Amino acid sequence: MLVSEMKPLEEVLGYLDGEGKVFIVGCKGCAEVCQTGGEPQVLEMKQTLEQQGKTITGYTVIDFLCDKALTKLRLKAHEDEVMAADSLLVMTCGIGVQATAAVVDKVVHPACNTINLGGARGEWRGSERCRECGDCLLDMTGGICPLTACSKSLINGPCGGAKNGKCEVEPEVRDCGWHLIYERLKKLNRLDKMREVLPPKAYSKMEPPKHLRSTIMWALEQDEKEEAVR
Ligand code: SF4
Ligand code: SF4
Repeated sequence: MLVSEMKPLEEVLGYLDGEGKVFIVGCKGCAEVCQTGGEPQVLEMKQTLEQQGKTITGYTVIDFLCDKALTKLRLKAHEDEVMAADSLLVMTCGIGVQATAAVVDKVVHPACNTINLGGARGEWRGSERCRECGDCLLDMTGGICPLTACSKSLINGPCGGAKNGKCEVEPEVRDCGWHLIYERLKKLNRLDKMREVLPPKAYSKMEPPKHLRSTIMWALEQDEKEEAVR
């Protein structure tokens, strides 16, 4: 289970600045449970964006967006609508946004932030990972998470140690995350994104929010710590 919450509407509209046509993707997995990417939220977003003058070329809600094969298959059924759009707005966790970006040659924007659940995680196939940072950066990075794709979690470009596209930390087995981001942005003709400098990350957002702390593993660990002090 990955917990997501909606980004502020202004932030989403900022991503869509200069783009008139949008295809919306929701998820019937964790995002439906969180009420961030189920059909009601997708339809609500559709209406909101239309009121903002956007054309919605189509929408779909896929069972588990984190399943790339399934996502690719389901989006294929909407190929014309997807191709007619300037970008895709994906209403789900960071894994679902990355999985969508991996199977579609289109700009993909995250509509949600994935927030920390304090230990419990879902299981999914594929190489995409999300650190539940609470302030999703995928809009800036072509849908590849810099916190998990880069060994050092750098958010403003590479460290300079990459060689032949491989990470200096594990050159035999690991691609340089920023090399992947560069190649993806280049393919999407959005290298301009690499010129924008992101502010320092608010790591406080990587803690589980208060309302989740009473129900999860994090809370049990806290209890154990407090018990040990007593
Ligand atoms: S930037 Fe990465 S860690 Fe943060 S929410 Fe997005 S996918 Fe997850
Ligand atoms: S080589 Fe690339 S992935 Fe490795 S730490 Fe440097 S920027 Fe990050």
